[in-house]
Amino acid sequence: MSNKIRVRFAPSPTGNLHVGGVRTCLYNWLFARHHGGTFILRIEDTDIARSTKESEKTLLEDLSWLGLNWDEGPDIGGPHAPYRQSERLHIYNDYARKLIKENKAYYCFCTDEELNAKKELALKEGRVPQYDGHCKNLSENEKNKFIKENRKPSIRFIASREDIIIQDLIRGEVNLRGEMVGDFIIIRSQGLPTYNYAAVIDDHLMEISHVLRGEEHLPNTRRQVMIYQALDFKTPHFGHLSLILGKDRAKLSKRDSHTSITEYISDGYLPDGLLNYLAMLGWSPKEKDGKVEEILSRKELIEQFDLDRVSKSPAIFDLQKLDWVNGQHLLKFDINTIAEMALPFLIKEGLIKERPDVDWPWLCKVVETTKNHIHHISEIPKLCSIFFDKTGTLEKEAEELLKTELSRKALNLWREKIKNEETISVENFQKLAKEIQKESGIKGKDLYMPVRAALTGDLHGPELVQIIPLLTKETCLKRIEKFI
Ligand code: GLU
Repeated sequence: MSNKIRVRFAPSPTGNLHVGGVRTCLYNWLFARHHGGTFILRIEDTDIARSTKESEKTLLEDLSWLGLNWDEGPDIGGPHAPYRQSERLHIYNDYARKLIKENKAYYCFCTDEELNAKKELALKEGRVPQYDGHCKNLSENEKNKFIKENRKPSIRFIASREDIIIQDLIRGEVNLRGEMVGDFIIIRSQGLPTYNYAAVIDDHLMEISHVLRGEEHLPNTRRQVMIYQALDFKTPHFGHLSLILGKDRAKLSKRDSHTSITEYISDGYLPDGLLNYLAMLGWSPKEKDGKVEEILSRKELIEQFDLDRVSKSPAIFDLQKLDWVNGQHLLKFDINTIAEMALPFLIKEGLIKERPDVDWPWLCKVVETTKNHIHHISEIPKLCSIFFDKTGTLEKEAEELLKTELSRKALNLWREKIKNEETISVENFQKLAKEIQKESGIKGKDLYMPVRAALTGDLHGPELVQIIPLLTKETCLKRIEKFI
């Protein structure tokens, strides 16, 4: 494909950036980067009641954190600036006047109350509510009467009834039926454009070649194609991405995990881990030597991404899979970097006061014990708490084990042995184990599991040989005694 590819992500700043939004943004970005095209960020903020500057700011921050950089946008400008719809109102009004002049749109003086009453009646009579064309053919006299009444008109677009067929890049031929759409508002009575209208004007003026967005926009696409045709604009290629559903195949909700990206950031997920997982949520890379490589770097995603392999069936969000993918990305970092990432989380949990507070090489070793057991950074403090002489949590299985007679006996023997040592190192720990085994006959799991449970509160996790050298004799004794 040529480098004329221009795509956009066009969020409305009315709340947090959601998983679905990020995937849409990511597919546009990957598509642009793969083809050497241009990726544009446009802020669709004409719903003034719901749009906030705060949301816009967070949105830009979240996208920057994800590393989904844009080539043109509200903060950096570009050849088609401004990129914030609220700053482009004059443009929408100019085109609306043109549509009126060409009899493709008209002023509508109906009030909200009148429209609502008609809507209710339609519903009551079992009809699909649709504008009845009341103001389509008003005489000059009638119009003047309304103006005198101080009614502020909206502008309605005259919808065609024909079916519109598009060649969707993901879904193939799609028939967007005509009978469902009545004449619809393009400029509200306060002078602000509606989404369907402003998006068309901007996609045209910004020379957008491909519109990739969620399938929930298919009904909008029908309206938008009508506007393209009325204004004699070339329609872009459309691709509608399938929905992302929860495990129960219902709408993605809080039950399935966080939905907003800000929460993944604060949980210490990695941008590359998240993007890797979200890329796979509806797209799959080509098999190599009979198998699909699921862990892909950003560069590999760009190289391999193609719309041909985007699925039209819904994608199921699976938090465990995301955790696994993120964990795999974490393994690529050296321990120093992971410790750096963990530091704010350790401070937040009160395990460390501030950076100079801590012996850095020791901290790196502490963090290392968690490396193979974590999926995201915020899990580190819990797994590390024992090294900071904090009680931490006691897992159910560990609790059960510690209740047994045999465990208590083993812990007693450990206590007696440890007490007489100067310090605890891997070597003398192993020496003590041998002695206990010889003297009491307790061995293997029966010998090691109770100490592990007492020290870490868990039967799983880092090896004892990794843990022991990082604990003081006093901490070991204190924790063992607690369970005797
Ligand atoms: N502002 C719209 C939204 O956030 C954009 C949809 C589109 O990509 O056209 O859903």
